[in-house]
Amino acid sequence: MSQYRNVVCKLLVIGWIFTGSAIAQTEPQRPTQTLLPHVAVLATGGTIAGTGTSETQSTGYKPGVLTADALLKSVPSLGKVAQVSGEQVSNVGSENITNEILLKLAKRINQLLAQPDIAGVVVTHGTDTLEETAYFLNLVVKSDKPVVLTGSMRPSTAISADGPSNILQAVTVAASPTARGRGVMIVLNDRIGSARYTTKTNATTLDTFRSPDDGYLGTLIDNVPHFETAVAKLQTTQTPFDVSKLDSLPEVDIIYGHQNDGGYLYDAAVAHGARGIVVAGVGAGSESLLTLPSIRKAVDKGVIVVRSSRIGNGYIPEDPAYIGLLGDNLNPQKARILLMLALTVTNNPERVQDMLHQF
Ligand code: GLU
Repeated sequence: MSQYRNVVCKLLVIGWIFTGSAIAQTEPQRPTQTLLPHVAVLATGGTIAGTGTSETQSTGYKPGVLTADALLKSVPSLGKVAQVSGEQVSNVGSENITNEILLKLAKRINQLLAQPDIAGVVVTHGTDTLEETAYFLNLVVKSDKPVVLTGSMRPSTAISADGPSNILQAVTVAASPTARGRGVMIVLNDRIGSARYTTKTNATTLDTFRSPDDGYLGTLIDNVPHFETAVAKLQTTQTPFDVSKLDSLPEVDIIYGHQNDGGYLYDAAVAHGARGIVVAGVGAGSESLLTLPSIRKAVDKGVIVVRSSRIGNGYIPEDPAYIGLLGDNLNPQKARILLMLALTVTNNPERVQDMLHQF
């Protein structure tokens, strides 16, 4: 009897092993630990990669010293939010970002985002022209995956350097599924801003990036992104711009309006070969009577002139007293970015005007 019971037990154990292994073969493998999203960090230079000579130095330091790898190593907790990889695109102060660097950066981002394993991209950048690069990318990135620009106001050597926490926040947003489809974003100092509306408002203070009239997209609280608003303008996949076919961008200059403006800078821009000119006009894009003959000459030569405001905020209304297309509520530096791209697809002023309102 006990022999019989032993045999039954053995058969049951063998049956259980076989059934178990059969289940193990047919059921999908469950990862022991959830894989974190992969975020590519592209470094271009700026204060975030800068070094000074004392912990209090926050002007006059050397920008663009630390490499992409050094930036990532300065934030050990990145490993908790994403798998990150670093690449160096340039290592310059952002006053030295050229159209060539913009195109190289945009092409690389489109390549990366086309890879299924990449969840999002972060670009580290000098703060001075960060909004120009962000808006350029907002018009040419062909993906809904998040692209986030960040920088810092204090160099890496300063007390309470803001770079590491800004990198952590930017990577967190880029890794977040809730950030998809929101256009290119600017993340610094707990704030998530859109490339379209965010601008640098103070030359030296930490809280310099603001979205003056249109609000932030959201805020990071305890390193968790909370989104509040969305941009109504067309962006990324909704624009007709294709950087893959571009090796250069047309020359577009910005001319700043002021009292007693003689207008000869317009003549100089046209003589230099500008295909577009953005007028950073006074108030709501007003142009001095003294400048109008030169602006008229430029338009007659086929140069596309766009009126914007040196205030950097507010819409440009139609006004028959002045010459040029309406720059919507784009500040002059962003109107220049859009005009360069518009001129890669058309010379037709009506089409350019539509784009100025749509994007
Ligand atoms: N002028 C430098 C740049 O834009 C430093 C400014 C900054 O990053 O805050 O790269």
